[in-house]
Amino acid sequence: MTTPLIKWTNWVGNQSFTPSEVATASNEADVQYWVKYAAERGLGVRTVGTGHSFTPIVETDVLLNTEAMRGITHIDAAKRRVNALPKTTIADFGEPLWAQGLALANQGDIDTQAIAGAIATATHGSGLNYTNFSATLAGARMVDGLGNVVVVSESENSEVLPALQTSLGLLGLMTELTIRVAPAYNLHARYETLKYAEVLNNIDDYIHHYRHISFFWLPTDASAKLYCLDHGGADDCVVKLYQELPADAQLPNLPANERVDRSYRIYPMHYDPNFHEVEYFLPIEHTRDILHEMRKLMLRWLPLSIYPLEIRTVGADQAWLSPNYQRNNLVVSISGEPGADYWDYLRACDSLFAEFKGRPHWGKLHFMTADRLDRLFPRYNDFVAMRRRFDPNGTFLNAHTRKLFL
Ligand SMILES: Cc1cc2nc3c(=O)[nH]c(=O)nc-3n(C[C@H](O)[C@H](O)[C@H](O)COP(=O)(O)OP(=O)(O)OC[C@H]3O[C@@H](n4cnc5c(N)ncnc54)[C@H](O)[C@@H]3O)c2cc1C
Repeated sequence: MTTPLIKWTNWVGNQSFTPSEVATASNEADVQYWVKYAAERGLGVRTVGTGHSFTPIVETDVLLNTEAMRGITHIDAAKRRVNALPKTTIADFGEPLWAQGLALANQGDIDTQAIAGAIATATHGSGLNYTNFSATLAGARMVDGLGNVVVVSESENSEVLPALQTSLGLLGLMTELTIRVAPAYNLHARYETLKYAEVLNNIDDYIHHYRHISFFWLPTDASAKLYCLDHGGADDCVVKLYQELPADAQLPNLPANERVDRSYRIYPMHYDPNFHEVEYFLPIEHTRDILHEMRKLMLRWLPLSIYPLEIRTVGADQAWLSPNYQRNNLVVSISGEPGADYWDYLRACDSLFAEFKGRPHWGKLHFMTADRLDRLFPRYNDFVAMRRRFDPNGTFLNAHTRKLFL
Protein backbone atom coordinates (compact mmCIF):
# COMPACT_ATOMS: atom_id res chain seq x y z
CA MET A 1 0.00 0.00 0.00
CA THR A 2 1.31 3.50 -0.78
CA THR A 3 0.11 6.73 0.81
CA PRO A 4 -0.18 10.18 -0.82
CA LEU A 5 2.95 12.35 -0.98
CA ILE A 6 3.92 13.83 2.34
CA LYS A 7 6.97 15.69 3.53
CA TRP A 8 9.10 13.64 5.92
CA THR A 9 10.92 15.54 8.68
CA ASN A 10 13.36 14.14 11.23
CA TRP A 11 12.81 14.45 14.99
CA VAL A 12 14.66 17.73 15.41
CA GLY A 13 13.44 19.26 12.13
CA ASN A 14 16.77 19.97 10.41
CA GLN A 15 16.28 17.35 7.64
CA SER A 16 13.24 16.98 5.44
CA PHE A 17 12.34 15.67 1.99
CA THR A 18 9.27 14.54 0.06
CA PRO A 19 9.61 10.90 -1.07
CA SER A 20 7.97 9.99 -4.36
CA GLU A 21 6.19 7.17 -2.48
CA VAL A 22 5.65 6.14 1.13
CA ALA A 23 5.00 2.40 1.18
CA THR A 24 3.88 0.26 4.09
CA ALA A 25 5.93 -2.87 4.78
CA SER A 26 4.51 -5.01 7.57
CA ASN A 27 6.79 -8.01 7.16
CA GLU A 28 9.88 -9.28 5.35
CA ALA A 29 7.95 -10.25 2.19
CA ASP A 30 6.61 -6.68 1.94
CA VAL A 31 10.16 -5.32 2.27
CA GLN A 32 11.28 -7.65 -0.55
CA TYR A 33 8.37 -6.52 -2.72
CA TRP A 34 9.16 -2.80 -2.32
CA VAL A 35 12.90 -3.20 -2.78
CA LYS A 36 12.29 -5.07 -6.06
CA TYR A 37 9.66 -2.47 -7.05
CA ALA A 38 12.15 0.36 -6.51
CA ALA A 39 15.08 -1.47 -8.12
CA GLU A 40 13.09 -2.31 -11.28
CA ARG A 41 12.20 1.38 -11.70
CA GLY A 42 15.67 2.73 -10.96
CA LEU A 43 14.37 4.37 -7.76
CA GLY A 44 16.03 4.54 -4.37
CA VAL A 45 14.47 2.87 -1.33
CA ARG A 46 15.21 3.26 2.37
CA THR A 47 13.53 2.89 5.69
CA VAL A 48 13.58 4.92 8.86
CA GLY A 49 13.94 4.14 12.55
CA THR A 50 12.53 7.00 14.61
CA GLY A 51 14.21 9.84 12.71
CA HIS A 52 16.60 10.86 15.49
CA SER A 53 19.61 11.23 13.16
CA PHE A 54 20.68 14.76 12.33
CA THR A 55 22.25 13.77 8.98
CA PRO A 56 20.39 13.27 5.64
CA ILE A 57 20.69 9.48 5.82
CA VAL A 58 16.99 8.70 5.46
CA GLU A 59 16.26 10.68 2.25
CA THR A 60 15.17 8.46 -0.67
CA ASP A 61 12.50 7.98 -3.39
CA VAL A 62 10.48 5.11 -1.87
CA LEU A 63 10.32 5.45 1.89
CA LEU A 64 9.24 2.28 3.70
CA ASN A 65 7.02 2.63 6.72
CA THR A 66 7.84 -0.43 8.83
CA GLU A 67 5.86 0.66 11.90
CA ALA A 68 4.30 -2.82 12.25
CA MET A 69 7.72 -4.51 12.43
CA ARG A 70 8.18 -3.90 16.14
CA GLY A 71 8.62 -6.28 19.06
CA ILE A 72 10.85 -8.92 20.60
CA THR A 73 10.48 -12.26 18.81
CA HIS A 74 12.69 -14.55 20.94
CA ILE A 75 14.86 -14.44 24.07
CA ASP A 76 17.52 -17.10 24.63
CA ALA A 77 18.45 -16.49 28.26
CA ALA A 78 21.12 -19.23 28.32
CA LYS A 79 22.98 -17.84 25.32
CA ARG A 80 22.19 -14.22 26.23
CA ARG A 81 20.75 -13.46 22.81
CA VAL A 82 17.58 -11.60 21.93
CA ASN A 83 15.85 -11.45 18.54
CA ALA A 84 13.83 -8.36 17.69
CA LEU A 85 12.10 -6.72 14.75
CA PRO A 86 13.78 -3.55 13.43
CA LYS A 87 11.33 -0.98 14.84
CA THR A 88 11.60 -2.30 18.40
CA THR A 89 12.67 0.68 20.49
CA ILE A 90 15.49 0.55 23.01
CA ALA A 91 12.90 1.14 25.74
CA ASP A 92 10.94 -1.92 24.55
CA PHE A 93 13.80 -4.20 25.70
CA GLY A 94 13.83 -3.08 29.35
CA GLU A 95 11.03 -5.03 31.08
CA PRO A 96 11.02 -8.24 28.97
CA LEU A 97 14.79 -8.68 29.29
CA TRP A 98 14.70 -7.96 33.03
CA ALA A 99 12.02 -10.62 33.47
CA GLN A 100 14.51 -13.13 32.00
CA GLY A 101 17.45 -11.89 34.12
CA LEU A 102 18.96 -9.94 31.21
CA ALA A 103 19.61 -6.37 30.11
CA LEU A 104 21.08 -4.36 27.26
CA ALA A 105 24.80 -4.14 28.08
CA ASN A 106 24.84 -0.36 27.75
CA GLN A 107 22.55 2.49 26.69
CA GLY A 108 22.79 6.10 25.54
CA ASP A 109 21.10 9.32 26.62
CA ILE A 110 17.64 8.42 25.25
CA ASP A 111 15.81 5.12 24.76
CA THR A 112 13.31 6.07 22.06
CA GLN A 113 15.39 5.09 19.00
CA ALA A 114 14.52 1.99 16.97
CA ILE A 115 17.07 -0.78 17.48
CA ALA A 116 17.81 -0.98 13.71
CA GLY A 117 18.45 2.78 13.55
CA ALA A 118 20.67 2.69 16.65
CA ILE A 119 22.69 -0.22 15.25
CA ALA A 120 22.93 1.25 11.73
CA THR A 121 24.65 4.38 13.08
CA ALA A 122 26.72 2.94 15.97
CA THR A 123 24.70 4.60 18.72
CA HIS A 124 26.52 4.36 22.05
CA GLY A 125 26.41 5.14 25.76
CA SER A 126 29.51 5.67 27.87
CA GLY A 127 32.16 3.45 29.46
CA LEU A 128 35.48 2.18 28.11
CA ASN A 129 34.61 -1.42 28.97
CA TYR A 130 31.47 -1.32 26.83
CA THR A 131 30.90 -1.09 23.10
CA ASN A 132 28.31 0.74 21.05
CA PHE A 133 25.05 -0.97 19.97
CA SER A 134 26.47 -2.02 16.58
CA ALA A 135 29.04 -4.30 18.16
CA THR A 136 26.27 -6.19 19.99
CA LEU A 137 24.70 -7.25 16.68
CA ALA A 138 25.31 -11.01 16.46
CA GLY A 139 23.31 -11.64 13.30
CA ALA A 140 20.42 -10.41 11.20
CA ARG A 141 18.02 -11.17 8.39
CA MET A 142 18.15 -8.51 5.74
CA VAL A 143 16.77 -7.78 2.28
CA ASP A 144 19.60 -6.82 -0.07
CA GLY A 145 19.50 -4.33 -2.95
CA LEU A 146 18.20 -6.98 -5.36
CA GLY A 147 15.34 -7.98 -3.07
CA ASN A 148 16.97 -11.21 -1.84
CA VAL A 149 16.77 -12.29 1.79
CA VAL A 150 20.25 -12.70 3.27
CA VAL A 151 20.83 -14.31 6.66
CA VAL A 152 23.97 -12.97 8.32
CA SER A 153 25.35 -14.85 11.31
CA GLU A 154 28.55 -15.42 13.26
CA SER A 155 28.83 -18.98 11.92
CA GLU A 156 27.50 -18.86 8.32
CA ASN A 157 29.08 -15.78 6.74
CA SER A 158 31.11 -14.21 9.50
CA GLU A 159 32.95 -11.94 7.03
CA VAL A 160 29.70 -9.98 6.46
CA LEU A 161 28.93 -9.32 10.13
CA PRO A 162 31.55 -6.60 10.86
CA ALA A 163 30.42 -4.78 7.70
CA LEU A 164 26.72 -5.03 8.56
CA GLN A 165 27.13 -4.03 12.21
CA THR A 166 27.57 -0.35 11.31
CA SER A 167 26.21 0.00 7.79
CA LEU A 168 23.81 2.99 7.64
CA GLY A 169 21.25 0.82 5.84
CA LEU A 170 23.61 0.48 2.84
CA LEU A 171 24.01 -3.32 2.70
CA GLY A 172 20.38 -4.21 3.21
CA LEU A 173 17.20 -3.46 5.11
CA MET A 174 17.28 -5.49 8.31
CA THR A 175 14.05 -7.37 9.02
CA GLU A 176 15.10 -9.15 12.23
CA LEU A 177 18.13 -8.58 14.44
CA THR A 178 19.92 -10.86 16.93
CA ILE A 179 21.61 -8.95 19.72
CA ARG A 180 24.03 -10.02 22.45
CA VAL A 181 22.78 -8.95 25.86
CA ALA A 182 24.17 -8.96 29.43
CA PRO A 183 23.01 -10.33 32.79
CA ALA A 184 20.54 -7.94 34.44
CA TYR A 185 22.21 -5.25 36.56
CA ASN A 186 21.37 -2.27 38.71
CA LEU A 187 23.21 1.02 38.46
CA HIS A 188 24.32 3.15 41.37
CA ALA A 189 24.27 6.66 39.91
CA ARG A 190 26.04 9.67 41.45
CA TYR A 191 25.37 13.15 40.08
CA GLU A 192 27.85 15.94 40.80
CA THR A 193 28.21 19.57 39.74
CA LEU A 194 31.93 20.33 39.74
CA LYS A 195 34.22 23.01 38.36
CA TYR A 196 35.98 22.15 35.09
CA ALA A 197 39.44 22.15 36.74
CA GLU A 198 38.28 19.61 39.34
CA VAL A 199 36.91 17.27 36.66
CA LEU A 200 40.14 17.54 34.68
CA ASN A 201 42.16 16.69 37.83
CA ASN A 202 40.10 13.54 38.37
CA ILE A 203 39.47 12.55 34.78
CA ASP A 204 41.70 9.45 34.72
CA ASP A 205 40.10 8.13 37.90
CA TYR A 206 36.61 8.74 36.52
CA ILE A 207 37.39 7.06 33.21
CA HIS A 208 39.07 4.00 34.64
CA HIS A 209 37.18 3.38 37.90
CA TYR A 210 33.57 3.96 36.92
CA ARG A 211 31.41 1.87 34.62
CA HIS A 212 30.04 5.05 33.11
CA ILE A 213 31.42 8.58 33.16
CA SER A 214 29.80 11.38 31.21
CA PHE A 215 29.61 15.08 31.76
CA PHE A 216 28.31 18.30 30.30
CA TRP A 217 30.67 21.26 30.46
CA LEU A 218 28.67 24.51 30.58
CA PRO A 219 30.27 27.49 28.84
CA THR A 220 27.73 30.05 30.16
CA ASP A 221 25.12 30.48 32.90
CA ALA A 222 22.43 30.04 30.23
CA SER A 223 23.79 26.69 28.99
CA ALA A 224 22.22 24.22 31.45
CA LYS A 225 18.62 24.85 30.47
CA LEU A 226 19.37 24.32 26.76
CA TYR A 227 19.82 20.60 27.51
CA CYS A 228 17.09 20.43 30.19
CA LEU A 229 19.72 20.25 32.98
CA ASP A 230 18.26 21.76 36.13
CA HIS A 231 21.46 23.18 37.65
CA GLY A 232 24.98 24.42 36.88
CA GLY A 233 26.46 27.75 35.77
CA ALA A 234 29.39 28.95 33.67
CA ASP A 235 32.44 26.65 33.83
CA ASP A 236 30.59 23.98 35.80
CA CYS A 237 30.50 20.36 34.74
CA VAL A 238 27.34 18.34 35.36
CA VAL A 239 28.84 14.89 35.93
CA LYS A 240 27.21 11.44 35.91
CA LEU A 241 29.16 8.53 37.45
CA TYR A 242 27.64 5.04 37.48
CA GLN A 243 28.78 1.83 39.14
CA GLU A 244 27.24 -1.57 38.47
CA LEU A 245 25.43 -3.46 41.25
CA PRO A 246 23.78 -6.90 41.20
CA ALA A 247 20.16 -6.96 40.04
CA ASP A 248 18.89 -7.62 43.59
CA ALA A 249 21.07 -5.00 45.36
CA GLN A 250 19.46 -2.26 47.47
CA LEU A 251 21.32 0.69 49.02
CA PRO A 252 19.41 2.39 51.85
CA ASN A 253 19.82 6.04 52.92
CA LEU A 254 21.33 7.45 49.75
CA PRO A 255 22.18 11.15 49.63
CA ALA A 256 19.98 13.35 47.40
CA ASN A 257 22.48 13.25 44.50
CA GLU A 258 22.56 9.43 44.30
CA ARG A 259 20.14 6.82 42.99
CA VAL A 260 20.04 3.04 42.62
CA ASP A 261 17.70 1.50 40.07
CA ARG A 262 17.47 -1.02 37.23
CA SER A 263 19.95 -0.10 34.48
CA TYR A 264 17.31 0.74 31.87
CA ARG A 265 15.62 3.20 34.25
CA ILE A 266 18.84 5.08 35.03
CA TYR A 267 20.16 5.75 31.50
CA PRO A 268 17.49 7.84 29.71
CA MET A 269 17.32 11.61 30.09
CA HIS A 270 15.08 14.22 28.49
CA TYR A 271 15.94 16.54 25.60
CA ASP A 272 13.80 19.17 23.86
CA PRO A 273 14.15 19.22 20.05
CA ASN A 274 16.06 22.51 20.07
CA PHE A 275 19.58 21.58 18.99
CA HIS A 276 21.77 20.18 16.20
CA GLU A 277 24.63 17.96 17.19
CA VAL A 278 28.12 17.28 15.86
CA GLU A 279 29.95 14.34 17.45
CA TYR A 280 33.44 12.97 16.96
CA PHE A 281 35.36 10.06 18.47
CA LEU A 282 38.97 10.74 19.46
CA PRO A 283 41.74 8.46 20.80
CA ILE A 284 41.32 8.17 24.57
CA GLU A 285 45.03 8.79 25.23
CA HIS A 286 44.59 12.42 24.10
CA THR A 287 41.76 13.10 26.59
CA ARG A 288 43.44 15.96 28.47
CA ASP A 289 44.69 17.74 25.35
CA ILE A 290 41.29 17.46 23.68
CA LEU A 291 39.37 18.74 26.70
CA HIS A 292 41.80 21.63 27.11
CA GLU A 293 41.71 22.64 23.42
CA MET A 294 37.95 22.22 23.11
CA ARG A 295 37.26 24.48 26.10
CA LYS A 296 39.59 27.16 24.70
CA LEU A 297 37.91 26.94 21.31
CA MET A 298 34.39 27.19 22.73
CA LEU A 299 35.25 30.21 24.88
CA ARG A 300 36.81 31.89 21.82
CA TRP A 301 33.59 31.31 19.84
CA LEU A 302 31.13 32.57 22.46
CA PRO A 303 28.23 33.38 22.03
CA LEU A 304 27.87 30.85 19.15
CA SER A 305 28.98 28.01 21.40
CA ILE A 306 26.71 28.31 24.43
CA TYR A 307 25.29 24.75 24.27
CA PRO A 308 26.76 22.29 26.78
CA LEU A 309 29.70 20.20 25.57
CA GLU A 310 28.98 16.51 26.24
CA ILE A 311 31.89 14.17 27.00
CA ARG A 312 31.67 10.36 27.05
CA THR A 313 33.89 7.32 26.40
CA VAL A 314 33.32 4.17 24.28
CA GLY A 315 35.27 0.91 24.07
CA ALA A 316 36.86 -0.53 20.93
CA ASP A 317 35.08 -2.95 18.61
CA GLN A 318 35.61 -4.69 15.24
CA ALA A 319 32.84 -3.19 13.08
CA TRP A 320 34.49 -1.76 9.96
CA LEU A 321 32.63 1.55 9.94
CA SER A 322 32.34 1.91 13.70
CA PRO A 323 34.05 5.07 14.96
CA ASN A 324 35.43 2.78 17.67
CA TYR A 325 36.98 0.32 15.20
CA GLN A 326 39.98 -1.10 17.11
CA ARG A 327 40.23 2.08 19.17
CA ASN A 328 39.07 3.22 22.64
CA ASN A 329 37.66 6.71 22.29
CA LEU A 330 36.76 9.89 24.08
CA VAL A 331 33.50 11.15 22.55
CA VAL A 332 32.93 14.89 22.15
CA SER A 333 29.46 16.23 21.26
CA ILE A 334 28.88 19.88 20.40
CA SER A 335 25.58 21.48 19.59
CA GLY A 336 23.97 24.62 18.32
CA GLU A 337 20.54 26.03 17.73
CA PRO A 338 18.78 24.92 14.53
CA GLY A 339 18.82 27.74 12.00
CA ALA A 340 21.72 29.58 13.71
CA ASP A 341 24.61 30.52 11.43
CA TYR A 342 27.29 28.73 13.40
CA TRP A 343 28.92 26.71 10.62
CA ASP A 344 32.29 28.50 10.92
CA TYR A 345 32.42 27.48 14.56
CA LEU A 346 31.53 23.88 13.71
CA ARG A 347 34.21 23.84 11.00
CA ALA A 348 36.74 25.10 13.56
CA CYS A 349 35.75 22.18 15.80
CA ASP A 350 36.06 19.78 12.86
CA SER A 351 39.61 21.09 12.16
CA LEU A 352 40.56 20.51 15.79
CA PHE A 353 39.13 16.97 15.72
CA ALA A 354 40.94 16.25 12.43
CA GLU A 355 44.28 16.91 14.20
CA PHE A 356 43.42 14.03 16.55
CA LYS A 357 42.18 11.70 13.77
CA GLY A 358 38.59 12.19 14.90
CA ARG A 359 36.01 9.81 13.44
CA PRO A 360 32.37 10.90 13.00
CA HIS A 361 29.09 9.71 14.53
CA TRP A 362 27.01 8.59 11.53
CA GLY A 363 23.79 9.99 12.93
CA LYS A 364 25.22 13.43 13.74
CA LEU A 365 26.47 16.30 11.62
CA HIS A 366 30.01 15.90 10.26
CA PHE A 367 32.23 17.17 7.46
CA MET A 368 33.50 13.89 6.00
CA THR A 369 34.55 13.20 2.41
CA ALA A 370 35.34 9.81 0.86
CA ASP A 371 39.08 10.64 1.04
CA ARG A 372 38.90 11.44 4.73
CA LEU A 373 36.96 8.25 5.45
CA ASP A 374 39.58 6.24 3.59
CA ARG A 375 42.27 7.70 5.86
CA LEU A 376 40.27 7.31 9.09
CA PHE A 377 38.75 3.83 8.68
CA PRO A 378 41.27 1.06 7.86
CA ARG A 379 38.48 -1.16 6.43
CA TYR A 380 36.74 1.63 4.47
CA ASN A 381 37.50 0.08 1.04
CA ASP A 382 36.37 -3.33 2.24
CA PHE A 383 33.10 -1.77 3.34
CA VAL A 384 32.59 -0.12 -0.06
CA ALA A 385 33.28 -3.48 -1.76
CA MET A 386 30.74 -5.18 0.53
CA ARG A 387 28.20 -2.45 -0.20
CA ARG A 388 28.64 -3.06 -3.96
CA ARG A 389 28.28 -6.82 -3.42
CA PHE A 390 24.90 -6.54 -1.67
CA ASP A 391 23.58 -3.47 -3.50
CA PRO A 392 25.24 -3.47 -6.96
CA ASN A 393 22.77 -0.93 -8.40
CA GLY A 394 23.03 1.50 -5.50
CA THR A 395 19.31 1.24 -4.67
CA PHE A 396 20.00 2.12 -1.01
CA LEU A 397 22.29 5.07 -1.78
CA ASN A 398 21.07 8.66 -1.60
CA ALA A 399 22.78 11.98 -2.34
CA HIS A 400 24.50 12.06 1.07
CA THR A 401 25.76 8.47 1.10
CA ARG A 402 26.62 8.32 -2.63
CA LYS A 403 29.33 10.96 -2.06
CA LEU A 404 30.82 8.87 0.74
CA PHE A 405 30.39 5.21 -0.26
CA LEU A 406 29.90 4.86 -4.04
C1 LIG B 1 17.79 13.61 21.53
C2 LIG B 1 18.80 12.69 20.92
C3 LIG B 1 19.63 11.94 21.75
C4 LIG B 1 20.58 11.09 21.20
N1 LIG B 1 21.39 10.40 22.05
C5 LIG B 1 22.35 9.63 21.54
C6 LIG B 1 23.25 8.92 22.40
O1 LIG B 1 23.17 8.98 23.61
N2 LIG B 1 24.23 8.18 21.80
C7 LIG B 1 24.37 8.12 20.46
O2 LIG B 1 25.30 7.46 19.99
N3 LIG B 1 23.51 8.74 19.63
C8 LIG B 1 22.52 9.48 20.13
N4 LIG B 1 21.66 10.11 19.29
C9 LIG B 1 21.73 9.80 17.86
C10 LIG B 1 20.80 8.64 17.52
O3 LIG B 1 20.93 7.58 18.43
C11 LIG B 1 21.16 8.06 16.12
O4 LIG B 1 21.08 9.08 15.17
C12 LIG B 1 20.23 6.89 15.76
O5 LIG B 1 20.53 6.45 14.47
C13 LIG B 1 18.79 7.26 15.78
O6 LIG B 1 18.01 6.11 15.72
P1 LIG B 1 16.67 6.13 14.88
O7 LIG B 1 15.92 4.89 15.20
O8 LIG B 1 15.99 7.42 15.04
O9 LIG B 1 17.27 5.99 13.42
P2 LIG B 1 17.03 6.92 12.14
O10 LIG B 1 17.67 8.23 12.38
O11 LIG B 1 15.58 6.91 11.80
O12 LIG B 1 17.81 6.10 11.04
C14 LIG B 1 19.21 5.96 11.12
C15 LIG B 1 19.69 5.08 9.98
O13 LIG B 1 19.24 3.73 10.20
C16 LIG B 1 18.73 3.21 8.98
N5 LIG B 1 17.75 2.17 9.28
C17 LIG B 1 16.61 2.29 9.97
N6 LIG B 1 15.95 1.11 9.98
C18 LIG B 1 16.73 0.23 9.29
C19 LIG B 1 16.61 -1.15 8.93
N7 LIG B 1 15.55 -1.88 9.31
N8 LIG B 1 17.60 -1.73 8.23
C20 LIG B 1 18.68 -1.01 7.84
N9 LIG B 1 18.84 0.31 8.12
C21 LIG B 1 17.87 0.90 8.85
C22 LIG B 1 18.07 4.43 8.32
O14 LIG B 1 17.87 4.22 6.95
C23 LIG B 1 19.14 5.47 8.60
O15 LIG B 1 20.16 5.38 7.66
C24 LIG B 1 20.69 10.97 19.80
C25 LIG B 1 19.86 11.70 18.96
C26 LIG B 1 18.92 12.56 19.51
C27 LIG B 1 18.03 13.36 18.60
